[in-house]
Amino acid sequence: MKKAFIKSYGCQMNVYDAERMADVLSGESYTETDRIEEADLVILNTCHIREKAAEKVYSELGRVRVLKGERQAQGLDTKVVVAGCVAQAEGREILRRQPAVDVVVGPQSYHRLPELLRAPRGAVDTEFPVEDKFGHLAAPSAAKIQTRGISAFLTVQEGCDKFCTFCVVPYTRGAEMSRPVAQILAEAERLAGAGVREFTVIGQNVNAYHGEGPDGSPWTLARLLERLAEVPGIVRLRYTTSHPRDMNDDLVAAHRDLPALMPYLHLPVQSGSDAILDAMNRRHDADAYRRLIDRMRAARPDIALSSDFIVGFPGETDADFEDTMRLVRDVGFASAFSFKYSPRPGTPAAEIEAQVPEAVKSERLARLQELLEAQRQAFNRGTVGRVVEVLLEKPGRHPGQIAGKSPYLQAVQIETDAHRIGDVVPVLIERAGSNSLFGALESGPLTAAA
Ligand code: SAM
Ligand code: SF4
Repeated sequence: MKKAFIKSYGCQMNVYDAERMADVLSGESYTETDRIEEADLVILNTCHIREKAAEKVYSELGRVRVLKGERQAQGLDTKVVVAGCVAQAEGREILRRQPAVDVVVGPQSYHRLPELLRAPRGAVDTEFPVEDKFGHLAAPSAAKIQTRGISAFLTVQEGCDKFCTFCVVPYTRGAEMSRPVAQILAEAERLAGAGVREFTVIGQNVNAYHGEGPDGSPWTLARLLERLAEVPGIVRLRYTTSHPRDMNDDLVAAHRDLPALMPYLHLPVQSGSDAILDAMNRRHDADAYRRLIDRMRAARPDIALSSDFIVGFPGETDADFEDTMRLVRDVGFASAFSFKYSPRPGTPAAEIEAQVPEAVKSERLARLQELLEAQRQAFNRGTVGRVVEVLLEKPGRHPGQIAGKSPYLQAVQIETDAHRIGDVVPVLIERAGSNSLFGALESGPLTAAA
């Protein structure tokens, strides 16, 4: 058996894709290793969303080149593959910049990895092939699923047609496409059969899901979630990432009616300024977002909200930024990701002349992150003293501890050895640390969610 080392950067889609590449490679006599020095095959599954993410790849490739040279001196061969969105965006340019690279493969062509590895150095596949990648990908064994844990990502949708003016995704992942329901269910049943208890249903724009149902009609994400909740063994469902424009009534209602659907929603808003939202081509204004949050809270009063923010989009004034701060104060987030705008080649926003100076971006980001961090900590402190259901996921940091997740996606550490990974147990939250909650098993009834 040969050894493959796969490193993923960026979003959950890449985590899922890395697992699919490992599945394809196990049919080619590769086992996975987490030690790059012993790898016969190194795959960097890259992210192109911001400049820093893309540059990281080239510095990592510099290190891989040294390693490849050292192994060569010992008579060992090492193949180097660049996959993911940098591969898609830069293609052959990667081979020119880094001679250690053997293969460049875009996100829609992973099923072709075995033939690309057999080809002479310099194979590049950045096509958007007509055949369905998912239909050609190998299924993982039950043993492999078990090593990946009880919570699994399940890709149901890929690509994006929204063309936000700052974003590379429509160019690197291609047009929006939804997998058919039957294909998703087959994968879901295989995962649940091997012990998976929770699905995070993923897609670049997951709530735009409109895959073909068994009856030939398009299903919404809400309908798909209802069906996934019926898969034996599945106790929890989550989904990410959603666009505010695609938050339909049936999905809002699912948060009220579907007990397996966790009270947590990642709903990127990017900015609180109408002028900036318009320049971003987000297709909604700040008040539409506020009204949507009101509807979500009416459906599921305890829902925890998360979002993405970009500061320093071209033309963003102090007043625009203050609108973002006001929206954050109005809504109140349990967690969030925030970034400085990074111009991406080929996107419309990169061409705008009024770019915001780096120092201004840094100062705004620091202020926004301070507010978001205060809200996150307040949310975590708000769960202290409450009993919440925790899905036990893995052994904890210390012997006798188990780590799990609350319904609100908070990490929880519990002192117990009486329960099994995969159980959902009531836990009294006693303390909130900076990144985890700490609690004790509760045998009494669950308190109603606040
Ligand atoms: N589809 C999701 C949506 O509609 O918001 C987000 C997908 S993107 C992978 C994740 C996040 O990266 C975005 O929500 C945005 O905040 C951030 N992002 C995307 N392009 C960016 C850029 N050029 N500069 C800074 N942040 C960016
Ligand atoms: Fe990018 Fe999301 Fe906008 Fe699509 S909806 S272009 S993935 S930010």
